[in-house]
Amino acid sequence: MPGEPQADCLFCKIVEGQIPATIVRESDTTVAFRDINPQAPTHVLVIPKVHYENAAALAAAEPTIAADVLREAQTVADEEKLESYRIVFNTGAGAGQTVWHAHAHVLGGRGLEWPPG
Ligand code: 5GP
Ligand code: ZN
Repeated sequence: MPGEPQADCLFCKIVEGQIPATIVRESDTTVAFRDINPQAPTHVLVIPKVHYENAAALAAAEPTIAADVLREAQTVADEEKLESYRIVFNTGAGAGQTVWHAHAHVLGGRGLEWPPG
């Protein structure tokens, strides 16, 4: 079934509490936790509890949950007192995607160059 947990998915395991993570927020549909290899003073991942391989697949199947991810990203930014921040959805290996469970990177707390690398 689309959206069902995948046995080999790291982020499904974090959702299910099988792998520890520094969780900063949880809602009915999302979990937000600190990236293990932070690229900025604040680097939080916001993920849907359901498994879709990227943000576009999530939005196509579960638009309400995709919106929840964006709202949670804003709440993380507020809680981390970020005036400006960046949301990144790496999509595809060529863009650096390594985990095939949709996730928003919320990055802030330093200058963020534009365009990004
Ligand atoms: P991607 O490269 O797919 O856009 O992002 C995956 C992110 O997951 C990376 O920034 C990586 O540091 C992070 N990550 C990988 N494994 C773990 C883990 O076990 N725990 C946490 N908290 N983050 C992880
Ligand atoms: Zn998953």
